[in-house]
Order: sequence, then C-alpha cells, then structure tokens
Amino acid sequence: MRTPSPAKTAPKGPTANAAERRKTAVHGASRGSSPPGEERAPKDRKKLAAVSKAATPRAKAYDPLAPDRIAEILKRLDQLYPDVTCALTHTSAWELLVATILSAQSTDVNVNRVTPELFRKYPTIEAFAALTPEQLEPDVRSTGFFRNKSKSVVGAAKKIVADFGGQVPRNMQDLLTLPGVARKTANVVLGSWFKIAEGVVVDTHVHRISRRLELTTQDDPQKIEQDLMRIIPREKWILFSHQIIWHGRRLCIARKPKCVDCSLENLCHAADKTWSTVAMHKNAKA
Ligand code: SF4
Repeated sequence: MRTPSPAKTAPKGPTANAAERRKTAVHGASRGSSPPGEERAPKDRKKLAAVSKAATPRAKAYDPLAPDRIAEILKRLDQLYPDVTCALTHTSAWELLVATILSAQSTDVNVNRVTPELFRKYPTIEAFAALTPEQLEPDVRSTGFFRNKSKSVVGAAKKIVADFGGQVPRNMQDLLTLPGVARKTANVVLGSWFKIAEGVVVDTHVHRISRRLELTTQDDPQKIEQDLMRIIPREKWILFSHQIIWHGRRLCIARKPKCVDCSLENLCHAADKTWSTVAMHKNAKA
C-alpha cells in the first residue's frame, strides 16, 4: 500500500504558505495597507483619513465675487482706461444734467451733436425754466423720445429755480425730486461733476458687462447698483463706471464683443463670448 504524497493531504509546507499569503493579501486590501499583525484601531484610521484629506490639495470652488478676482478686474481696467471721464460734453452741473437726461436711449455722440447749440440758445437754467416743453421739443428731437425728454428738462429747470435757488442740488435725495431724474442720472451728476461717490452709475453698458463678468445676476438697475456697491471699493465707484462704459463702447459691445482683443478675457466666462480660453458659463449673460 502506497503512502499518499504529502501534497495530496493537508496543505502544508510551501503550498500552505502561498494560500495563506493570498488570504492575507485579500484580507489586507480590504483593510488598507497595514502590515499583518499591525491592525490599526478604528480611531487611528479616522485620524489618518482626516490628515490625508487635509493634505490633499482640492480645487477651489469658483467664486465670481472672490476678492482677488474683483481686484484683478479692477487692476486690468485701470491699465486699460487709466483716466477716463464722462463722454458727455458739458461745462456745468446743469449742462451735465441736461445731457444725461437726453442720453437715455441715445448715444453720447448723438447728444454731443445737439447740446452745444442748445446751451448757446438757452444759456442758463432760468432760460430753460421759462420754456414750455413744446418749445424745447424741436431742439432735442434728434435724441429720440423728445416729448418726454423736453418735459423732464423743462420740469427740472423749473423745480431747480423754484426749490433750490437756481443751483443743481448736490445730494441724491434732492436730485431724485427732479422730474426725469432717477439714480443713474443723479449718480452721473454727483460723481462726474461734484466728485461725490454716492452710488455706481448703471447704464446700459454697466448693466450688460457686470452681468457678463458675473459681478451680478440681477437685471434691475437698482439691484445691480447695490451688488456693485457691495463688491467695488467706494473710492472706485466713480472711475469704475466710466471704465466699464468705455469698455462697453470699445470692446465689450452688445453684439459680438471683441473678446480676442480684451485683456479681461481669461477672467470672463460670459456665455456670449466670441472667443474664449476659459470655460463659458451659461448663466453669465448680458
Ligand atoms: S472677454 Fe468679451 S465678453 Fe468678456 S469682458 Fe471682454 S469683450 Fe466682454
């Protein structure tokens, strides 16, 4: 009778060791890389996991309002438009007020064609206050919406003469009592003439570009202004609106913005960019 070979009986010797190693590897893999005999206590494993999580650099979530992003936008605007001012021709607060009223739904170029002759014909606030709106209409017709604009200009002149001693008020509250004057016009006069930063001018360019740059998601000019006032330092309010208005005229035009020439390009994720090196965000639209 032959004695069975050791291999066909119990797994002993080298075969037993290999089986044991396989068992240990599978077992070890399910518990991490602790060497056999050095099982980590659950507490240690938790600690290790926390340390490793903290050490792993995680991509920061994109925040369009991050202070460093806002600072970079302002820096580049300063480089692009270091000393821009209001493009409406004027020599007094009153002339700027009239020009701003006339600029609604019109272009500054168009308004600048009309105002020199207008101010020559009616050189003082009192001269405007003595008119009826109908008398002024032919002079401002080419700026569009001329009936409403005539009413606003003559109404504002009458009120300034009657209530403010013939002087354009230099505060928001009084300016807002003038016919045809809302925050945009008041901010233009306060900022550009009196150098008082009471708010941010939100015209059509500021409206469009603030949304493209994700500085706001609002659509209402007053809410956009509030958002901008929160993120732009006050000492920049006046210049910022001039810069954005110039940017809107030169490059960030409403249709087909010239993104390839824009130095804000890699900070801008606007959905309607015409050229981009960065991801475009579908909600970042004018
Ligand atoms: S990259 Fe294009 S859309 Fe963005 S700010 Fe510049 S011109 Fe405007």
